[in-house]
Amino acid sequence: MPQTIRVLLDSALDRPLDYSVPIAFEGRVGVGSRVRVPLKNRVVLGTVMAVLENSEVKNQKPMAALLGERPLLSPSILKLAKWMSAYYLCPEEVALRSVLPQAVRGAKVTHKEKKAVELAVEVSPEEIAKVAARSPKQAAVLAAVVRSGGAVEVTALEEEVGGGAASAVAALVKKKFLREKFVRVGRDPGASETYLPSLPLELNGEQAAALSAVCRAIEDPEKAKPILLHGVTGSGKTEVYLQAAEYALGAGKSALVLVPEISLAPQTVERFKSRFSGRQDEVAILHSHLSEGERHDEWFKIHSGKARVVIGARSAVFSPLTNLGIIIVDEEHEASYKQEEMPKYHARDLAVMRSTAEPCAVLLGSATPSTESYCNAVSGKYELVNLTVRADERNLPVIRILDMRVQRRRSGPESLFSHPLEQAIRERLEKREQSILFLNRRGHSTSLICSVCGHVCKCPDCSVSLTYHREVDRVLCHVCGHGAKAPKKCPECSDPSIRFSGAGTQKVEEFVRRIFPQARVARMDADTMGRKDAYRETLGKFKAGGIDILIGTQMIAKGLHFPNVTLVGIVNADVGLHVPDFRASEKTFQLLTQVAGRAGRGEEDGEVMVQTFTPFAPAIQFARHHDFVGFWEQEREFREQFQYPPFVRMILLTVRSPREDLAEFAAQTIRRRLEEAVPERTILGEVCPAPLTKAKGSFRYQIALRAPKDVPLRACIRKTLDPKRLPMPEDVFLSIDVDPYSLL
Ligand code: ADP
Ligand code: ZN
Repeated sequence: MPQTIRVLLDSALDRPLDYSVPIAFEGRVGVGSRVRVPLKNRVVLGTVMAVLENSEVKNQKPMAALLGERPLLSPSILKLAKWMSAYYLCPEEVALRSVLPQAVRGAKVTHKEKKAVELAVEVSPEEIAKVAARSPKQAAVLAAVVRSGGAVEVTALEEEVGGGAASAVAALVKKKFLREKFVRVGRDPGASETYLPSLPLELNGEQAAALSAVCRAIEDPEKAKPILLHGVTGSGKTEVYLQAAEYALGAGKSALVLVPEISLAPQTVERFKSRFSGRQDEVAILHSHLSEGERHDEWFKIHSGKARVVIGARSAVFSPLTNLGIIIVDEEHEASYKQEEMPKYHARDLAVMRSTAEPCAVLLGSATPSTESYCNAVSGKYELVNLTVRADERNLPVIRILDMRVQRRRSGPESLFSHPLEQAIRERLEKREQSILFLNRRGHSTSLICSVCGHVCKCPDCSVSLTYHREVDRVLCHVCGHGAKAPKKCPECSDPSIRFSGAGTQKVEEFVRRIFPQARVARMDADTMGRKDAYRETLGKFKAGGIDILIGTQMIAKGLHFPNVTLVGIVNADVGLHVPDFRASEKTFQLLTQVAGRAGRGEEDGEVMVQTFTPFAPAIQFARHHDFVGFWEQEREFREQFQYPPFVRMILLTVRSPREDLAEFAAQTIRRRLEEAVPERTILGEVCPAPLTKAKGSFRYQIALRAPKDVPLRACIRKTLDPKRLPMPEDVFLSIDVDPYSLL
């Protein structure tokens, strides 16, 4: 009886197809294998979802090829993908597509191989001497291969015996002393780096208690709850992660560490690499700067079981580690864990899911946990562990709020800095201490307004104003990337008096250079950090004291540790605070706390200055007092009273179309259908234009749904919006976001 496999094709077909397994592949194909199968007159890629002994379908076509000897997807990863498809309301093949990196899934990138040679026969010293008499080079090559006792890469022989090795090899192959062989070589992105080994630090009492809770969970994951580690900035959370990972390795298990993409480049990775420098081969790093080849090799290094510690961003949650001991999610509150395209998953939530399926320990860490996670900890769903003091016993920095409504009157409307902030920077320069200036907005001026007719320069394809970038003298759209030469006069009324308003980081840099010409200044934002190594270089220079003032966006807010920074200036704390998003306050509180945490990590105490026009906003006041719990309490009350997550479950529907009337009409139709179908106590929002009304040429309309329970709500949406029952007209697209993070 031939075997039958049920294959889900990568291209959307929305149902699996059955194929027979030819004898050559029998016993090698299993659930989770990746295969090539015929479809019409093409051959396409798919995933084996099941192996059946009997299939109804007659005359199945045989599968064409098998990728890899072992299934590329383990049962637990397959299970995670299925859960993701059901929870985030996306087709299974879309979920499956995201669990394998493109470099592995597409099967176009392969292992890199190098030419090597090995002995074809036994070779005695006498024979080598005989060869030497005619060709010393050939003898040297032969001797080197004999010494190696295995296969030697030809390039290595060239290094060992010098030029001419290749032709000597060719001659020896011809004489049948050697035979050629291809050996697999890893493309190791970190091969050229060396890390000084670091030893585990002696933990303080709080850290030790945290670690022992984590070790208990690693030992007995079935009984353990997810652990939420709430530790103030500088409390030594990373040290706890390191020792927890070491403990898992010691117990013969593996460890997965998720970090926000932003902190992958520099310090966190370095700390892991240093701690595990003795076993560098066992560490794999997955981040967005890898080449396709490197990503492919890192993935197979994990899949083969060689790498047992993985550090990566969001999608690393799908790493094919086996015998997983712990998943660590650093900065669990970070928005970058949420994927903003299909499938719109949240990596922290997937980590928790995966930890129950494996099972393994899960550790969520943050100085500013998300309201959701902290609610889970308080309700007992998670175990809460606190680190309340800085590990090095330093004080948390003093935070001073500068009311810009008052300060502006003194310093003038042209000045970006209030008098106290300017003075504080000056003092640091005199004392040769370092300052960080933070503004979460890149570019020079965030809008260009004509002072005669009031015209604002907007992107033709998006409903946002264009940002002026002085270095290139262009205006750019930060949504779609559209760019144009900066206008010299108003495009509307041709008057030359166009005003540049709203400061971005470039303007801050310009301003700083003007008032502190003697200072050494650097800027870090998406515009200056395009190059792969720019991040590392600038941070290295700052750390070495080669920069006095570092200006940046959120890129410099997280995870960095610079002992000589004694001043952090937040140029405008209101950016992001007054946007239509129920998380605006939470996000601002988190960012302020994180940025403030960069100050005072050395001998000298740190000072933080926050410039704001709304000094009494709770996010600003609680951040000032380092009062996370106070902030959380009022945030929780607000969410409960106004029915926001986690007190309700939220799903956001966005309908977009290049034609505005079509988008709105389709949204209205959807809403009417939902009106009849939604479960009891659902709050079904009105159809309204999205805050970002138009993006990349498409008009966007939204419907928000909130309900006390997620299961009936999801079931209703799945049924009502099934494309078979409610097909979208041409040029209209519907996207479903479960537990949305960005409401724009
Ligand atoms: P967090 O991740 O909580 O912000 P870090 O892990 O960056 O904190 O720790 C801050 C600093 O304290 C680091 O320089 C770290 O090496 C140091 N540190 C951590 N734990 C200890 C300890 N037990 N004893 C001494 N120094 C420590
Ligand atoms: Zn645009």
